[in-house]
Amino acid sequence: MRVYNFSAGPAMLPEEVLKKAAAELTEHGDSGQSVIEMSHRGKDYEAIHNECISLLRETMEIPDNYKVLFIQGGGHMQFDMVPQNLKKNGKADFVVTGQWAGKAQSEAKKYLEANVIASSKDKTFSYIPALDSSEFDKDADYFHICQNNTIFGTRFSKLPETGSVPLVSDMSSCILSEPVDVSKFGIIYACAQKNMGPSGVTVVIIREDLIRDLGDSNVPAMQRYKTYADNNSLYNTPPTFSIYMVKLVLEWIKSKGGLSEIKAYNEKKAAILYDYLDSSKMFNNPVEKEYRSLMNVTFVTGNEELDKKFIAEAKKEGLVTLGGHRSVGGMRASIYNAMPIEGVQKLVDFMRKFEAENSAM
Ligand SMILES: *Cc1c(COP(=O)(O)O)cnc(C)c1O
Repeated sequence: MRVYNFSAGPAMLPEEVLKKAAAELTEHGDSGQSVIEMSHRGKDYEAIHNECISLLRETMEIPDNYKVLFIQGGGHMQFDMVPQNLKKNGKADFVVTGQWAGKAQSEAKKYLEANVIASSKDKTFSYIPALDSSEFDKDADYFHICQNNTIFGTRFSKLPETGSVPLVSDMSSCILSEPVDVSKFGIIYACAQKNMGPSGVTVVIIREDLIRDLGDSNVPAMQRYKTYADNNSLYNTPPTFSIYMVKLVLEWIKSKGGLSEIKAYNEKKAAILYDYLDSSKMFNNPVEKEYRSLMNVTFVTGNEELDKKFIAEAKKEGLVTLGGHRSVGGMRASIYNAMPIEGVQKLVDFMRKFEAENSAM
């Protein structure tokens, strides 16, 4: 029996998508072979690859002056690729709103001056700091944010105004959860395993003028955006199966009416959970309301033993992977696109029951 999996990633995928992949696993179309077995240079795979790119362009309304790249190495690889490729004046601005944002900054330090413009570390990353654009460095090579903080359950409710400095956003845990205006960004990157597909591929959406020729610098070929852009992400063997799965997820999103519909559904799901948390005397969401994530909902009882009991009992009900990130503890329900409203409702029903049964403690 399939469970409701609240994992932060790899995470749940739509059942329709998994069934389609299963049905096509041994033979894709009339190719006589599995996607996994196909040459990445053949026309069958090429069609999948290009369809995935064009569906993403259509779904996110990506302007013509942006390229879509498929890169391996996960979100982490982008922490290194962005500074190496965008370095010009040798400095960049960072907003540190959690562990991933912090890692992007500390990796960037290897290549340039990585300035922390603001941080929410003082209150365990439970909010997004107010930003004053007059404090931004006009000569920065880029301005980096992590738009949705997977571990702490916060998100930017509005984007910083960075003027001509390219805004770089780690959207690993919120891409495709709602429409975004791509033209506001220099680079958007997202590993697939949160909201787009299986692990193995990271999508990079990059404005063309930021795809630079790094000449004879010592940046490795595999870490240059230009290598991917010049070769339609087929310079070497791409993660073909992951890209195929992303294509199926994009088809599923299209069948649901696109990102506006997905957003409305996600808002409905998140509201069920947050409304309950706000009314509960046992469970508490530590995030300032304005910055609450639509995708990752964190909560605690304030009693570690009780948290553990909750996670264990929820598991018996088919509500799994509700533990918070190992660095913070407590609980976290990741409710990405593929989590059906029934799963969230079942979680809230269980929380209500648990609260009633354990409130004497
Ligand atoms: C999961 C995650 C990452 C790390 O991704 P990997 O693919 O494991 O390298 C980076 N940023 C954010 C926001 C994430 O949620």
